[in-house]
Amino acid sequence: MKIVLASRNAKKIKELRELLCESIPDIEILSLDDVGIYGEIEENGETFEENAYIKASVAAESGYIGIGDDSGLVVNALGGAPGVYSARYAGGHGDDEANNAFLLKNLKDKTDRSAKFVSVVACVFPEDREKGNFFRGETEGEILKEYRGEGGFGYDPLFYYAPMNKTYAEMTAEEKNSISHRGKAMRLLSEFLCKKVKG
Ligand code: IMP
Repeated sequence: MKIVLASRNAKKIKELRELLCESIPDIEILSLDDVGIYGEIEENGETFEENAYIKASVAAESGYIGIGDDSGLVVNALGGAPGVYSARYAGGHGDDEANNAFLLKNLKDKTDRSAKFVSVVACVFPEDREKGNFFRGETEGEILKEYRGEGGFGYDPLFYYAPMNKTYAEMTAEEKNSISHRGKAMRLLSEFLCKKVKG
């Protein structure tokens, strides 16, 4: 089974490879570059599902199974923001420091600091590109008033997960993977693909 992951993020590709190869021994995970699909994919959807599908369906143009994912932070007191705009909340794409500062500023007077991370993975088969198969993982937490922890990326130092008494940034990669939104969604995908292989 060959799978094309619509990402150029080496960390994500490695993570998916570890997870899927463990459960499906004959699987091969390729990147867009590996199958000759170059250029940026425009993520202009309004939901995580739409964005994940856009990416997965481009990856499926390769003739192999396409996988795309989209994730973000959903803050209740901010009406669900930053949501699908998480990477560019403060303007520039992927400016973690500015995004975190903007989040703290917007939550300054709010008492409700509950939030969740959401990850949606879409899987598209090349013979049925209209159809997206979706897997959603969510993890509830709260937004701290100060940064805690050095690890991770994005909003990790502000996202506190009470059951472990740690922020995402204080967790080891294994700890984060075991409870994270992305880990949950990826495990659902893995179960789905396993069932396909075994029939
Ligand atoms: P992506 O769709 O996985 O690339 O995530 C979009 C944006 O959501 C990232 O640029 C981060 O700002 C935020 N994000 C998603 N997952 C995480 C996470 O695990 N920790 C911190 N921030 C995240």
